[in-house]
Amino acid sequence: MRFNISAADSGSSARAGILETPHGPITTPIFMPVGTVGAVKSLDPEALNTAGVRIILGNTYHLYLRPGTEIINTAGGLHQFIGWDKPILTDSGGFQVFSLAKMNKITDDGVEFQSHLDGSRHFFNPAVSMEIQRNLGSDIIMAFDQCPPGDAGIEMAEVAVKRTSRWIAECRDWLAENPLLYGHDQTLFPIVQGSVYEELRRRSAAEVVPFATCGVAIGGLAVGEEKSAMFEMIDLLDGELPRDQPRYLMGVGRPTDLVRAVRLGVDMFDCVMPTRNARNGQLFTSHGIINIKNQKYKTDFATLDEACDCYLCRNFTRAYLCHLIRVNEILGLRLASLHNVTYYLNLMSTMREQISDGNFTIWAADYLGKMSDHQGM
Ligand SMILES: [Zn+2]
Repeated sequence: MRFNISAADSGSSARAGILETPHGPITTPIFMPVGTVGAVKSLDPEALNTAGVRIILGNTYHLYLRPGTEIINTAGGLHQFIGWDKPILTDSGGFQVFSLAKMNKITDDGVEFQSHLDGSRHFFNPAVSMEIQRNLGSDIIMAFDQCPPGDAGIEMAEVAVKRTSRWIAECRDWLAENPLLYGHDQTLFPIVQGSVYEELRRRSAAEVVPFATCGVAIGGLAVGEEKSAMFEMIDLLDGELPRDQPRYLMGVGRPTDLVRAVRLGVDMFDCVMPTRNARNGQLFTSHGIINIKNQKYKTDFATLDEACDCYLCRNFTRAYLCHLIRVNEILGLRLASLHNVTYYLNLMSTMREQISDGNFTIWAADYLGKMSDHQGM
């Protein structure tokens, strides 16, 4: 992969760039919708393309459990299996093992856990995670790290930093020693841990950045810590991470979080929020959050968001979407998901334009000012 910065903002660390991948270029800053089990819930590749999606995320833990790597390998890799010919990033499975699986037991060697589906026993370590991700054939492979919860004490955070540093070398070595499966390169992103502790963040960055060839991730944030602490850590890392590689902030977040993080030099994001919130009837719009299930939308025949060009906003009314979501109709979930994903991708596209035009600082202050009264944005 190659990363070229095409424009940089003079008033902040924001930059616009192009990340060349084996499955085509991605313009940054970019948002990656989450396709947990090999599908961005309710959206097919055609809808994703229309929404401006250029890269999606797949979850190693879920795909390993179902349908299993053997089936995906037989299909010719995840791109082939799910009919998506653009870039894919896969996570390491670690986060789900720590947060979702039952009875997990962590040592320096790896993690023993029980499936959240049937209680069956499994073991993940750097080699296992790399082998699964190699079989998935993602363009970007995430390092197997330990992500402690947001309220972790400094001792637990330090253990996680040590393991993450030890494991990144094992990830790199496994990938170097085992052949590619589908003829295209895979790039490993190391992950910086350290919770909300400055010294640990600096140490983690110093230890994992040498393993970065074209991209590095900021992990262990948006996991329950104070939001102010999250931005302090991103600000700190802006000075620690290489400027010539893309920076990926994992699991973030709300639209205003994305704008603030781009201002601090972040290039890539993923979050379940646009699709999950859509299914609960929460829509992101240029007017703030709209809870479409509210009584008042039953008879609101206006367009959901006149600033949006998605299929929902071009063709249907708030009243119709309110009805569909209230009766739990699949079409409602799909249209709402399409709108929210479009909102996120349009926001990223606007940021890229504003950076390229030299107006990002003013635009970002205006956007954040406008949205500050809107809870949930
Ligand atoms: Zn829309």
